Amino acid sequence: MAFFRWANLFIFIFNCFLTATPIFSDSKAIPNFLDLAKEPHVFDWMVDIRRKIHENPEVAYEEFETSKLIREKLDELGIPYKHPVAVTGVIGYIGTGLPPFVALRADMDALLIQEAVEWEHKSKVAGKMHACGHDAHVAMLLGAAKTLKDHEKYFNGTIVLVFQPAEEGARGAKKVLDAGVLENVSAIFGLHLHQKLPLGVVASRPGPLFAGGGLFEAIISGKGGHAACPQQAIDPILAASNVILSLQHIVSRESDPLDPQVLSVATFHGGVALNVIPDSVTIGGTYRVFSRKSSLQMRHRIEQVIISQAAVYRCNATITFFDEEKPFSPPTINDDGLHEYFHSVAKSLLGADKVKDAELVMGSEDFALFQEALPGYFFFLGMEDVSVEHLQAAHSAYYKVNEDVLPYGAALHASLAVNYLAKLSHEVAAVEEKYHDEL
Ligand SMILES: [Zn+2]
Ligand SMILES: [Zn+2]
Repeated sequence: MAFFRWANLFIFIFNCFLTATPIFSDSKAIPNFLDLAKEPHVFDWMVDIRRKIHENPEVAYEEFETSKLIREKLDELGIPYKHPVAVTGVIGYIGTGLPPFVALRADMDALLIQEAVEWEHKSKVAGKMHACGHDAHVAMLLGAAKTLKDHEKYFNGTIVLVFQPAEEGARGAKKVLDAGVLENVSAIFGLHLHQKLPLGVVASRPGPLFAGGGLFEAIISGKGGHAACPQQAIDPILAASNVILSLQHIVSRESDPLDPQVLSVATFHGGVALNVIPDSVTIGGTYRVFSRKSSLQMRHRIEQVIISQAAVYRCNATITFFDEEKPFSPPTINDDGLHEYFHSVAKSLLGADKVKDAELVMGSEDFALFQEALPGYFFFLGMEDVSVEHLQAAHSAYYKVNEDVLPYGAALHASLAVNYLAKLSHEVAAVEEKYHDEL
């Protein structure tokens, strides 16, 4: 009987902590951040920020005005920050300034796309657009900061706000890490808007989420000549064509079908005249894999197949994987423990029916670089409202953000951070109590 009483008490405490109203380290109830973020003075504030950034899109490492706006808003909230970090990045701090530290990340950069959506806050910069929702990511993290700052005195530890530049293929995350601002951080959380998930629904998975990706380019050299006398030339066009066909067999015949991989040749340049066999052909493309091991294997075979197949046609080949300029971007691997934690917080905030499993994504996300350095968790946040419209995919000139999503992102950020600090405090307290009891 006593056992059952203790067991029930344990289950009660466990449930309180994980699924019901979690508590701050000093036993104050954690507020419902979704209600707070939906309040007009927070919601309208976020919408205004998002629209300002949308009107003035800035690409990788050029986010100077975006960075300035973020700092103005942090000043307005009385939140201290570090700047510059990774050229335009801003790192804000809410809390005691002491450990434990938990980080929240928003990316800031736009894309080289001409916006095709006609609306009041259309991009004012020709050829540039926030077509991946990073304007909304920044607004949501600032919204989280606004609600968190009001409750700062109740939590034990520090929330690190990471406004990161250059996510779109320029490895801004690496520069942020190199600046040393995430040392001693226990965990980092990040999100991405998703146009095909319903508004307020989140989705993710433990382990791999986004693929890792690498680029390659090969020059296949033969001997140019008159196209009417191919016997006097060494034809690199034919060699490159067969190289491309052979490369397609790596995934279809050699890779494990249960380990998703993609290899695409995306460029083919050779020749200028219709009656001349060129000296060389340049081909290039990308591969996507879900582990560093698969990446090494893929690179090895790409190199081997190109060189060997070119040799069949008496051509030479040289290959680059752009290790300096655009190195392999690793897969985004979610920490298993953080997945359980994310589920408990998201279900408590949104309801169990709003938390879904995500499919693997063959695209890449540089949040992966943070996850190589510390435990990290990345998830999608849905914004589709079919009663209004079907939204276009990210990187489309017709991309739109349903701004009703902003409170959800702000609330998820805030809840994940605050509950995580509370969880760490509880763990430390439990260890101390055990140590005390043993004494
Ligand atoms: Zn993107
Ligand atoms: Zn993006």
